[in-house]
Amino acid sequence: MTDALILGGGLAGGAAAALLARAGKSVHLIERETGPHHKICGEFLSIEAHQHLADLGIDAQALGAVPIDRVRLISGPSQIEAALPFTALGLSRHILDEELLERAQAAGVTLERGVRVLEVAGSTVRTSHGDRVASNVLLATGKLPVREDRQEHREKDADPYVGFKMHYRLSRRAKEQLAGTVQLTLLEGGYAGLQMVEGGRANLCLIVKRSRFSRIGRNWSDMQALLASLPRGGEWLAEAEPLFDKPVTIGNLSYGMASACPSDDPVFRLGDQAGMTASLTGDGMALALRSAFIAAECLLEGKGAADYRERHRAETGLQISRAMALQRVLEQPVLRTMGIGLLRAWPGLLTHLAFATRLTQRRPEPEFGFAG
Ligand SMILES: Cc1cc2nc3c(=O)[nH]c(=O)nc-3n(C[C@H](O)[C@H](O)[C@H](O)COP(=O)(O)OP(=O)(O)OC[C@H]3O[C@@H](n4cnc5c(N)ncnc54)[C@H](O)[C@@H]3O)c2cc1C
Repeated sequence: MTDALILGGGLAGGAAAALLARAGKSVHLIERETGPHHKICGEFLSIEAHQHLADLGIDAQALGAVPIDRVRLISGPSQIEAALPFTALGLSRHILDEELLERAQAAGVTLERGVRVLEVAGSTVRTSHGDRVASNVLLATGKLPVREDRQEHREKDADPYVGFKMHYRLSRRAKEQLAGTVQLTLLEGGYAGLQMVEGGRANLCLIVKRSRFSRIGRNWSDMQALLASLPRGGEWLAEAEPLFDKPVTIGNLSYGMASACPSDDPVFRLGDQAGMTASLTGDGMALALRSAFIAAECLLEGKGAADYRERHRAETGLQISRAMALQRVLEQPVLRTMGIGLLRAWPGLLTHLAFATRLTQRRPEPEFGFAG
């Protein structure tokens, strides 16, 4: 029986594993993928995210992360640009998540790759390689639901999102125009985020509602053609070289808090399993890391999952609801037009919005003061 069984080796699972192992707990981590892999993500590391990484002893810039200090919002023919209220970083998940898993292993975590979680039933977990039991189960399997015996069935989103991600090599001109900037292009039923990451690559991550995707043509070439045909925001595509054979894709994506569970439910839900914030604000990774810190603190204090849920909601609830409200405004054509009009008149409002949708910063508890 290990002290903690962690399901999923993304940012939330990897960080929780490293924190608990460094504090002397025995930790077993199960990850579905057999090696480093690309994930759907804009790869925009907000200030809170890189602060948490620094608290974990990870220097994102030493891994090649590039600084981003401006935001460019594009809607139809309108383009608004403003300074970010902090310097963010661009770093691919392929590199970042692997670094975290290596740190976790170095701290003594047993990492089991290529094992799929099939069902969680309290402290028993059914996997593709047999049942596992632990005193504490931390569910950190990311964006899509895992079968659970206790959690209430979440009502299906009637029109979920479909997501794509692709890395590109840009023309020199496009690269210069994008330098230091995260470019968000609003689409009907979604948005596309473009920014530089390490190694001179650009990351494009976009989502659209499934209904809109069906109307566009239901494939990646049609999505790219749509982007290239926009009055602004897609010109760079004509000269860009895709760096993956095919895009990373996801279907059935829904945002919002996880559905309710009974107060005595023993499972710790971390990262996107606890709640998926609107990705447009680029703070999901910070939230995933924060959930790992809160869970590790609770476990080290001998507190259970109910205390964890309460602390998690108190620290993240406001950020998630503000981000969701912003995403809803930008998705409604009338509200979007009004919002863009306001932003054109006062571009500094974009800086305020970027600030207002941040997770409040906090220092880790002293037992986690092991940066470096
Ligand atoms: C379109 C989009 C763009 C985004 N852009 C940004 C951004 O720019 N900045 C930002 O901060 N956030 C962004 N986010 C949010 C961010 O990607 C997530 O919040 C973050 O990855 C959550 O981390 P996690 O550890 O919970 O899940 P993940 O990082 O998804 O990790 C989950 C892990 O669990 C594994 N796994 C899954 N299922 C199983 C299973 N059944 N068995 C075993 N293992 C399993 C997976 O392989 C994976 O390694 C974006 C999200 C979306 C949808």
